[in-house]
Amino acid sequence: MNQYGSMTRAGANSECLCDLRSDTVTRPDDAMRRVMAEAPVGDDVYGEDPSIIALETHLSDMLGKDSATFFPSGTQCNLAAVMSHCGRSDEIIVGDSYHIYCDEAAGASVLASVSMCPVRTEPDGSILPEIIQSAIKEDDDHYAHSRLLCLENTVGGQAIAMPRIKDGVAAARSAGLSVHLDGARFFNAISALDCDPAELAEPFDTISICLSKGLAAPVGSVLVGHADLIARARRIRKLLGGGMRQSGILAAAGLHALTHNVDRLAEDHQRAADLANYLNGLGIGLAVAQTNMVFLTPATHPDLQQKLAAHGIRIGGQSPTIRMVLHKDVDDTALAATKAAFERVIT
Ligand SMILES: *Cc1c(COP(=O)(O)O)cnc(C)c1O
Repeated sequence: MNQYGSMTRAGANSECLCDLRSDTVTRPDDAMRRVMAEAPVGDDVYGEDPSIIALETHLSDMLGKDSATFFPSGTQCNLAAVMSHCGRSDEIIVGDSYHIYCDEAAGASVLASVSMCPVRTEPDGSILPEIIQSAIKEDDDHYAHSRLLCLENTVGGQAIAMPRIKDGVAAARSAGLSVHLDGARFFNAISALDCDPAELAEPFDTISICLSKGLAAPVGSVLVGHADLIARARRIRKLLGGGMRQSGILAAAGLHALTHNVDRLAEDHQRAADLANYLNGLGIGLAVAQTNMVFLTPATHPDLQQKLAAHGIRIGGQSPTIRMVLHKDVDDTALAATKAAFERVIT
């Protein structure tokens, strides 16, 4: 079973004390709902939604780029980015564990007619420059045209260090490729690397950022980058059915999240470290914390998912490693309940 295996309607009504399946499960709090209710709105397809404009301007300023466009999902945001860089029969080079290659229903191939060249990712989530170089194809009628390198940060909860990113980007640039960052958890990376948003964004032409992961907004992603690429992506968004009207209600939630929920990501990282430490102390197996995620490889404890569910704790499937994700709606009480449940099911 994959990490999404438990994301079904089954069990949706049983009492849940702590949901660690993903940081997408957060619910908007009262303050966020208020700003959504009061958001000034207009028709964003006409470019007239003031809250959307405020969100896009806020993020492009923060990342030191020209412009930005709001999307309904990270998947659509990445696809529009790929399509803004690439034409039919072009190729992207992408890490073999990255979301664009593994978790977006092959949209780049299916909808963009772009060939995906998956390459080995290192244990830290980066791609070695020599791997990138050897994947870039020469100009030959037999080959797809290598056009774009897609990196991701964080990857499986790991923040890739700046020098490793720059090495990979330099390899792509030297062959004339553009570079996109899938920064679904961009701010988790910022928090872990203790760097500036503009610093992490600097090497990239485009960056996609999810508002609905650790930032805890209900909906939305933003593509940030050079003006010409964002203009193309905006047109592609319409093509893909992602042009929305009074979407300022969603942008207001995103702006609220960027104002109130960035600094608190460090708390999620702290609780992840705490939980991993606790699980290692229990001797249940090997637990490793990476930013807001804990990866547990249990030694001899089958069916942990079902057993913990009986105690109101939801975790992802065992494959054989279990991913647990800390987020805004896991407070110290929920964390304590999780620890207690683990202790009960293994003793
Ligand atoms: C969640 C995620 C996305 C986008 O997912 P959506 O569910 O479509 O918003 C893209 N990349 C990564 C690495 C992600 O974790």
